[in-house]
This record gives sequence, structure tokens and C-alpha cells, in this order.
Amino acid sequence: MQDLLSKLIKKNLPFTKDGNVANYIPELDKAKKDALGICIIDNEGNQYCAGDCDTKFTVQSISKIVTLMLAILDNGEEYVFSKVGMEPTGDPFNSIRKLETSRRKKPYNPMINAGAIAVCSMIKGSDAREKFHRLLDFFRLISEDETLDVNYKIYCGESETGNRNRSMGYFLKGEGIIEGDVEDALTVYFKQCSIEVTAYTIAKIGLFLANNGKLSTGEQVVTPRIATIVKTLMVTCGTYDSSGEVAVRVGIPCKSGVGGGVVAVVPGRLGIGVYGPSLDPRGNSIAGLHVLEDLSNELKLSIF
Ligand code: GLU
Repeated sequence: MQDLLSKLIKKNLPFTKDGNVANYIPELDKAKKDALGICIIDNEGNQYCAGDCDTKFTVQSISKIVTLMLAILDNGEEYVFSKVGMEPTGDPFNSIRKLETSRRKKPYNPMINAGAIAVCSMIKGSDAREKFHRLLDFFRLISEDETLDVNYKIYCGESETGNRNRSMGYFLKGEGIIEGDVEDALTVYFKQCSIEVTAYTIAKIGLFLANNGKLSTGEQVVTPRIATIVKTLMVTCGTYDSSGEVAVRVGIPCKSGVGGGVVAVVPGRLGIGVYGPSLDPRGNSIAGLHVLEDLSNELKLSIF
């Protein structure tokens, strides 16, 4: 496995020349464009890493899957999905367009920003501080990493530049989708995007989902039903408006973030984290998806 990973990193390194790192915050623009790394953990605890797998980056949209699990634990599946749908949009992640025109009057899914902000508003807690602390604790629990924390420079940048997200939050408040304080929901959203991880951290989150919501200790933290919901939404909506193409090319549940990370799950078997900050126009790691595609072909990982 180790040799295979090293080979795939080397082979796909030229793809890091394509695309651009996210630059809507100056701090994100500092990422090394040619970084590329992968980490795989199996359910016996074996770990295989190659390339830039210790580099820290912000989790960004990958956080949406974690918040969704906690929101369902806090409120139940029925309540959460009365406020947010389960359908892909085919639109960019930060699109506002369908919010008003949709007959559903709720965000299409929890993986687009509007849906994720609505999900943040459902995390229990008396204010943004308590809500976020509960979320960070949950993040630490499922990644089995007590040291996870927020990159405050990036958080400040997210909050300063996040006016499009803010506008969605206020729209959802007006529609009654967000109950409670809309600024609290936005603070939780901006902070969750700014949690710093490595390819290893997200591989651990992938493994947690692969094992249907169980930690490596055997402790069941979320129900298998919650893990199934999240994995299904990762397939249909996890890689922005490329989710259909990624399902064909890679064939396993994936969730990407504009920090350059992609978490992938091989049900019952593996958690995979890749990092490559150079993104395609839709926000996915170009080289990272190539590595995952090759890995899937080599090891016959597609669930389809
Ligand atoms: N902070 C970014 C935003 O809300 C995250 C987006 C992402 O990773 O897709 O615009």
C-alpha cells in the first residue's frame, strides 16, 4: 500500500500546476500550490501516508458533514430535514439563486452553504460560544484528536469576507428556517470552516463514517443510520456541482473543502484523507481527485 501511495502522489503531482489555491482570504492564498498528500487508515488501525500528509490546512466545507451529525444527534432526523432538504442542486456551493425560487422554501441540502448555515443554527447551546464548543468537542471526539482547534486568522478572514453567507443566513431567518440568533449560526459556520486539520485528521473522520459511527475503541458515537445519511449525501452533494462526475470517477462517498482537503470513505474498510490546495473552478482539489480516482481504480474501491 505504501509504495502504491507514493507512486500515485508522484504520478499526479503535475496536476498541482493546474487550478489555483483559494484566495478569498489572504491567509488561504499562502498555501503551497504544489503540495499533495494522502493518508489512509484501515479498520485495523494501519496507517499509510505519502506526500504532504502532515501539512495543516483548514477543513472548510468538510466540516459540514460533522455539524450535520451533531445536529441530527441534537434534534433528530425528522426535525433537521424539515428545515433542509436532501437533493443536489447542481449549483455552486455558495449559490443563493434557488433559495427563493424553490417551492420547498428550504435549502436543498446540508452540503451547500445555505443548508450548512441552517444546520449550524440547530446545534444546541445558549450562545455561539457554547454551540461552537460543543461542535469542536464533537469534532475532537470523532477524529480522536484532542488538539484540534481554530485558525483564528482564517476565522477572522471568513467573518470579514463572508457577506454572501451572511445574506443567506438572514434570508433563512426571514423564512423561519433559522430559529434563534442568526449571527450565532454564522459565527459557528465561520469557525467550523476554520478548524485546522491534516490529511490524517480527515482520514480519521472518514474511518469513523466507514465504521458506521464507531470510534477505534468500539464506542458507538452516532447511529449507523446517521452515518448512512451522511455518506449518502456525500455521494450526491459532497463535491459541489461536480458530485455526479466524482461519483462516476471515484465511486465512493467524498466531501471536499476549499482548503484543499477531500475526505473519502470506503464503507466498512477505509478512511482516506487527501490534501492538494490547488482547486478547480468548482472548489475541488484537482490533483487530490486524480489521486482518489487512481486509487479507486487500483484497489477497485467503487461502491457502484
Ligand atoms: N468558508 C467557505 C465559504 O463559506 C467554505 C466553502 C467551502 O469549503 O466550500 O465560502
